[in-house]
Amino acid sequence: MLDQSNELNAWDRDHFFHPSTHMGTHARGESPTRLITGGEGVYITDSTGKTSLDAFAGLYCVNVGYGRQKIADAIAEQAKNLAYYHAYVGHGTEASITLSKMIIDRAPENMSRVYYGLSGSDANETNIKLIWYYNNVLGRPEKKKIISRWRGYHGSGVMTGSLTGLDLFHTAFDLPRAPILHTEAPYFFRREDRSQTEEQFSQHCADKLEEMILEEGPDTVAAFIGEPILGTGGIVPPPAGYWAKIQTVLDRYDILLVADEVVTGFGRLGTMFGSDHYGMKPDLITIAKGLTSAYAPLSGVIVGDKVWEVLVQGSDKLGSIGHGWTYSAHPICVAAGVANLDLIDELGLVENAGSTGAYFRSELAKAVGGHKHVGDVRGDGMIAAVEFVEDRDDRKFFDPAKKIGPQVAAALAERNVIGRAMPQGDILGFAPPLCLTREEADIVVKAAAEAIDEVFANL
Ligand code: PLP
Repeated sequence: MLDQSNELNAWDRDHFFHPSTHMGTHARGESPTRLITGGEGVYITDSTGKTSLDAFAGLYCVNVGYGRQKIADAIAEQAKNLAYYHAYVGHGTEASITLSKMIIDRAPENMSRVYYGLSGSDANETNIKLIWYYNNVLGRPEKKKIISRWRGYHGSGVMTGSLTGLDLFHTAFDLPRAPILHTEAPYFFRREDRSQTEEQFSQHCADKLEEMILEEGPDTVAAFIGEPILGTGGIVPPPAGYWAKIQTVLDRYDILLVADEVVTGFGRLGTMFGSDHYGMKPDLITIAKGLTSAYAPLSGVIVGDKVWEVLVQGSDKLGSIGHGWTYSAHPICVAAGVANLDLIDELGLVENAGSTGAYFRSELAKAVGGHKHVGDVRGDGMIAAVEFVEDRDDRKFFDPAKKIGPQVAAALAERNVIGRAMPQGDILGFAPPLCLTREEADIVVKAAAEAIDEVFANL
């Protein structure tokens, strides 16, 4: 059995540059290395033999749960038969073609083609390029700005990090870059005017968007991007009427809608896509995570009919599209995707995300919603968040230096349950695998209530 003092631990400190990690504390050995060795269902095991219930499904991605033989077999079979061939100039594999058909069959209406990448970030880079290409083909070279939202999360590349509306992802990286703009987050709990109803606040967000479009000039604004439910920015469902009001504004100025469904695609909200759940009418959809349940890296852009027709005109004018990656539609990854989507259907996981998700959220609200430092318990389908406040009546937030969110997440981990301290605000997030049972939901809720009590008792 491996432990923290062995050679691997030293190699980790000395050579492994971890993403989203405090570089100094990790390199100096002041924060723990946790070596994960296995997973089964909703549980992961580490090198000390400790088992934890992963109530964040990795990074909200292991939607079918760990240890699924069917997907492992599909990957092994594909690796044996044909580990790689490219998808350039019309090449494909049975799995890449089948998966495209499966995705379009499940997607919202008027969707046409799937372009494959390897991460949510690169898929959103593809979106940006397609949006610019689209407007160039239409002879509108000025129509290039993309509006995102504060607290949106769309990746951490140069342009996708710019789309992301979280300070941590901008600071000292010279982001955001033009032509990316940010508008108001649809964060009802944090609205400035607390007398506003959800509908009024939604109208306020739509008005803010319209103001920005008019200020910039509608002929310069190409697209609006949003997650159906804000994810990394705090797990915030849209207030009532939000997407319909946003859509009205976008339609008025001929602005494309990109639904970033990296988290919500393939069942998380109890529907196959979040766009259908909230009545969004996207022109482009970003997918990743749940597409393979992270058994292999795969992302995609689902291109709607309206954009596709213009892209085809572009090729007829300009030749083959100058956008391609070696690993687009990688055979092993698309084989994992086919097996994963089959499994989601076979196990009824979309339905379970809706029903067990509702049970989980209502039990969570019952158990912790009355705590004097819990300001909001929210979510939808199989995703939920608890937001902590210093004072409920004044809705006063804690000094971020107190790190309340991380403390609660650590106390939860002590109880062998994994949640996530969301990066901006004191927010504990949950996004369990979609196969969660009611018994497992009870374990998460009990541990969360105990962890919250412990942290505030010691404050
Ligand atoms: N879009 C959304 C909504 C996400 O939540 C994420 C990652 O969490 C991304 C894009 C970026 O995906 P990746 O980390 O695979 O680049």
